[in-house]
Amino acid sequence: MMMKKIFQRLQMGSLLLLFGCVFSVSAADKESATARRLAREGYVNIQKEDPSIHVSLMYSRADNFCGVVLYDDLKEAFLHPEAMAALKKAQAYLKQLRPDLSLKVYDAARPMRIQQKMWDKVKHTNKDIYVSNPAHGGGMHNYGMAVDITLCTLKGDTLDMGTKIDYMGMAAHIDHEDRLVSEKKISPKARENRQLLRKVMRHGGFIPLRTEWWHFNKCSRATAKKYYKVIP
Ligand SMILES: [Zn+2]
Repeated sequence: MMMKKIFQRLQMGSLLLLFGCVFSVSAADKESATARRLAREGYVNIQKEDPSIHVSLMYSRADNFCGVVLYDDLKEAFLHPEAMAALKKAQAYLKQLRPDLSLKVYDAARPMRIQQKMWDKVKHTNKDIYVSNPAHGGGMHNYGMAVDITLCTLKGDTLDMGTKIDYMGMAAHIDHEDRLVSEKKISPKARENRQLLRKVMRHGGFIPLRTEWWHFNKCSRATAKKYYKVIP
């Protein structure tokens, strides 16, 4: 009788073990091949590092400025560990200033083959000044050292920033915001939101980009070229 019980328990144990294996295999399957490759190369998954940060990759959907899906399988946002540490610092500072808000990432590390697809889409058009040419070494996203980011509520609703995230034009520039407000191109609230975003990102150690309110670099291009490698 005793032996039978032990046997039954062992059977149950192996069933549970089997279930556990099947479950973990299917959980790993959900991660895209590109995500697994980025993780193997040492880049970190933003949401795993800081689950309070919202992520919604704009190039995994067709409603971006290229009008097509550029990330065929990637849904996760990755960064170089140094940029990730800075982003965590920025999110913590935002939580300190505004516990009702969060950062929301629209793009982060971008493999060079995606950069090539993006470039092929815009070259010989008036949009080519907004995309880094892979033949010239690409841009900071290709090093995992840049983020496209905005502010959102805890539910994930984005705040008014004056323009859409990949809007190409003067209204997205950050150096004449007072004029943009006086000319009613952006609202005073949008200016305030942009200022808050820059304040927390600068606190983390990021450098804003003059022409895109949403883009922040962790280091200069010269530093990236010298010390970091491009993601193939
Ligand atoms: Zn960007």
